[in-house]
Amino acid sequence: MTEPCRICRNTEHNRIIKTREMMFGQREEFAYLECGNCGTIQLLEVPKLDAYYPPEYLSMGSIDDIDIAVTASRRLAARFAGRRLRGEHSLIGKSVLALKPWVADHYPPSLRRLDLKANSRILDVGCGTGRLLETLHYFGFKNLSGADAFVCHEISTPSGIKIKPQTVAEIEGEYDIVMLHHVFEHLPDPKAALSDIKRLLAPGGTALIRMPVAAFAWEEYGTHWVQLDPPRHLFIFREKTFVEFAKSLGFTVSAVEYDSTAMQFWGSEQYRRDIPLNDPRSHDYGREGTVFSPEQIREWEAAAKKLNEEKRGDQACFYLQKA
Ligand SMILES: [Zn+2]
Repeated sequence: MTEPCRICRNTEHNRIIKTREMMFGQREEFAYLECGNCGTIQLLEVPKLDAYYPPEYLSMGSIDDIDIAVTASRRLAARFAGRRLRGEHSLIGKSVLALKPWVADHYPPSLRRLDLKANSRILDVGCGTGRLLETLHYFGFKNLSGADAFVCHEISTPSGIKIKPQTVAEIEGEYDIVMLHHVFEHLPDPKAALSDIKRLLAPGGTALIRMPVAAFAWEEYGTHWVQLDPPRHLFIFREKTFVEFAKSLGFTVSAVEYDSTAMQFWGSEQYRRDIPLNDPRSHDYGREGTVFSPEQIREWEAAAKKLNEEKRGDQACFYLQKA
């Protein structure tokens, strides 16, 4: 008998795993419980978390260098391409995408399957400094809001999008899209968070939850799996458990798309070698002195793509509607 799983209450065959903070190389040890029944991995004792979100954590999403906004011609291309990418009739948009197909690479892949309008009300929960919202602005979206519990006061992006210092429980209003990109795993109470997300969704709206999932990389790398990320990640689900969990709280799950990257390999291999993410030797495209060859990285990119097709990658996007 161990402590009960906080998702399914199971007490049998739960396993305790100890792992270290390695994003910033603090190397402090934390204990997780892996449920013997539903497989959810959960941080046992949550410390005061502010110390683990230093200013550089938010500034990782700097908004001074949004690729699609750096020149006037790029901004124009994005505006027309955005119409076409939303499924509007736009001959200019069509030719922009034919002549400059790279423009579409900057459009968030997780939004492609959604039926969006320029005036769709889009809320980004845990948006940091608002980089993604600012990108959507350049693609012509007009109704954008953001909130982040770790910004210290309300901020405005260069295009005027307001980002409020709020937790999901504090946000008000009604939205067609509520999206959480690698945020849900940071929230202390998944059940309360999903209830809040439901409250914020307009009838017919979609919640989009992108997060790590325990699959191949967890089995392969165990305590060195880069997406354990102690102590910031509080709950990591298995796909099946999260789908059942969402259904039990009144959602339907219309799709689950895997979008893992080569990072599940290079990040975890680094942690195995005791190299933190912020280490000068860390693999970061374009940086000097990385420990992995370009060939190795390409192999891992191909392996991640294959894992995604097999639904075994280490992160996925869940699309939820109110039942
Ligand atoms: Zn469980």
